Amino acid sequence: MDLFEHEARDLFERHHVPVPRGKVAVTPEEARAIAVELGGSVVVKAQVKTGGRGKAGGVKVVHSPDDAEQAAEDILGMDIKGHRVHEVLVTEASAIAEEYYLSFLLDRAERTFLAMASAEGGMDIETVAAAKPEALTRIPVDPRTGVDRASARRIVETAGLPETAADAVVALWNVFVAEDATLVEVNPLVQTTVGTVVAVDGKVTLDANAAFRHPAHADFVDSPDEDPLERRAREAGLNYVKLDGDIGVIGNGAGLVMSTLDVVAAAAVDAGAVGPANFLDIGGGASAEIMAAGLGVILGDPQVRSVFVNVFGGITACDAVADGIVRALAQLGDRAAKPIVVRLDGNNVAEGRRILVEAAHPLVTLADTMDDAAGAAAKLAAAEPEA
Ligand code: GDP
Ligand code: MN
Repeated sequence: MDLFEHEARDLFERHHVPVPRGKVAVTPEEARAIAVELGGSVVVKAQVKTGGRGKAGGVKVVHSPDDAEQAAEDILGMDIKGHRVHEVLVTEASAIAEEYYLSFLLDRAERTFLAMASAEGGMDIETVAAAKPEALTRIPVDPRTGVDRASARRIVETAGLPETAADAVVALWNVFVAEDATLVEVNPLVQTTVGTVVAVDGKVTLDANAAFRHPAHADFVDSPDEDPLERRAREAGLNYVKLDGDIGVIGNGAGLVMSTLDVVAAAAVDAGAVGPANFLDIGGGASAEIMAAGLGVILGDPQVRSVFVNVFGGITACDAVADGIVRALAQLGDRAAKPIVVRLDGNNVAEGRRILVEAAHPLVTLADTMDDAAGAAAKLAAAEPEA
């Protein structure tokens, strides 16, 4: 999950990375008030999750509250590379002597962490890396030892940053580790005209797999942009991705669901349906509650016209899954109003089928194979609705 600059700034502050004072404004008047509070000379910065805001006119250095208000007026509502600006960060302006680049990231290819630093900060780092690779220092970081003061000094020395930047480098490493980030990037890290070092921009990507360790990170999820069905699924702890089709898909295990999407996509072409409406992996448990939550999300998608439940009984046997489906449909009642094709296989399949046949739910059809089930679900999705 990528954070907004102001969120990254808050994390930096928490870990004692020097940052300029600042606050978020959603109106020009608020921006003016913050500028008054900060003493007049401020930077007004578009909060969008994309780089190059400066070049796009989304970063303005101004010297009075009037100008701060005008800058916010200009920037709020702006479109930067397809991202609408809803908020601006107003910070005190730093008197910049030099701009540097510093980042910590996960180097997947080398299976290690990496520090990257450059004395040529402020500009697009990809450009620096391409035009002048020697200006970008890359130093692997051993995860067992991390970055202490000595290794921070080695990083800044090698890259040609002043020694005074070493403390900020250690603090930024602390952000990376303590917050479970996969990227912490500062461009520019600046040296001011009075010799202090300040992070005036910040980009942080958090590792979503570590979210359970950071209840506070839930505040960072920017709900306005999130698909409402995806939000509901996330709140129910489901692994759901909305797609564009008309056939809802539920399965257990990511691999099975991925292959189900392929089979459904092919069946949709044959039947004249659109295709899979979503990815939804209910995992190994497949309890009635999870099945009900999953079916609830899928049936809440107005584009869905039929549902394919594809379950392979493993540790969780088919009878438990079938029981889950029956109880889920009972819980959903009238909300379960679309045809559901179920394919069960694996551990205890005979008992699972018996449970579904006995329940004889009017919306549920059983299919023998994954192909049969996909074909049946696609035909149901393509069929004219009954008058
Ligand atoms: P980006 O374009 O999205 O990377 O936004 P940045 O926050 O990095 O700002 C872009 C540029 O604006 C920086 O490289 C600086 O040159 C300039 N800038 C940002 N903050 C300040 C500041 O406090 N004072 C001054 N003088 N310039 C700033
Ligand atoms: Mn920047």
